[in-house]
Amino acid sequence: LVVCHIRPDGDAIGSLLGLGLALEEAGKQVEMVSPDGVPLTYQHLAGSEKIVRRPKMPFDFSIVVDCSDLGRTGGTFAAGTVPDLNIDHHITNENFAQINLVDLQATATAEILAELIHLLDLPMTQPSAEALLTGLVTDTIGFRTSNMTPHALRVAASLMEEGADLAELYRQSLVQRSYEAVRYWAEGLGKLERSGRIAWTTLTLADRKATGYTSSDDADLINVLASINEVDVAIVFIEQSRKRVKISWRARPGIDVSGLARQLGGGGHPAAAGAELERTLEQAIELVLARTEAILGVVSPAPIKNEIPENT
Ligand code: 5GP
Ligand code: MN
Repeated sequence: LVVCHIRPDGDAIGSLLGLGLALEEAGKQVEMVSPDGVPLTYQHLAGSEKIVRRPKMPFDFSIVVDCSDLGRTGGTFAAGTVPDLNIDHHITNENFAQINLVDLQATATAEILAELIHLLDLPMTQPSAEALLTGLVTDTIGFRTSNMTPHALRVAASLMEEGADLAELYRQSLVQRSYEAVRYWAEGLGKLERSGRIAWTTLTLADRKATGYTSSDDADLINVLASINEVDVAIVFIEQSRKRVKISWRARPGIDVSGLARQLGGGGHPAAAGAELERTLEQAIELVLARTEAILGVVSPAPIKNEIPENT
């Protein structure tokens, strides 16, 4: 059994599929589980049609990918079950399995898996390579996040050599989007607010309905907010139900939002984190803005423009 996290992103689906297909190719009987299915953006990946929402077969070995805690598997495991293997790269990982392979230097879980598949001499087919490169490309937003390493580029190069078409995967996962998604952005951008170095907006259930956008995420609007010059932290509040709100944070290098996300029951990376709160939209906004302002009060200011790092 291979499982990824709820509300899957490119690394979740890419890791699930990349590892699942390699194990299948090696002759294992594999069930790939994504509790929330496969978003439209990743349905072009070969093999994605094999992914199911709940385990259907009994399993004798379980692998959880890209999840920092067991809750992220959305109730895939019966209470009290300890998965066999946890493969992840989040600083907030709770080492919840029998064996925990957590590499904080990896830019994506897919980067760890690409190397592991090579080390274990598992067959790397083109569909596996495409899935893993999708994970790498999406978690690094096209190789541009501050945690990028030469190693990640080497892994990407090897996946290209194994048949993955970088330009096409990049286009499918990061450039193209549905008309509905852009209309949803328009709703969110229309409500954009800023206080000091924080910018935020909200996406309500009504916005989702009005625009015909079907997923319960932010359609990557957060990256638009994070691009604002005057801003150190961008936040998007996505209403899930009347008393449930998903929060996404993005921070400039040097600011760590992962601890705050974890305090609120979520998790993630220093520069990109999320959480889900059992509150109304208004309550969530009030709490999260206050907490975010508090961390900005104690961190060092954003690097001055044109400052040249010592090691260049
Ligand atoms: P996003 O804001 O795109 O949903 O997520 C940013 C990062 O935080 C991703 O690495 C994602 O896996 C993690 N993350 C988002 N929401 C949650 C959450 O509710 N719990 C945990 N543990 N991690 C989250
Ligand atoms: Mn990831």
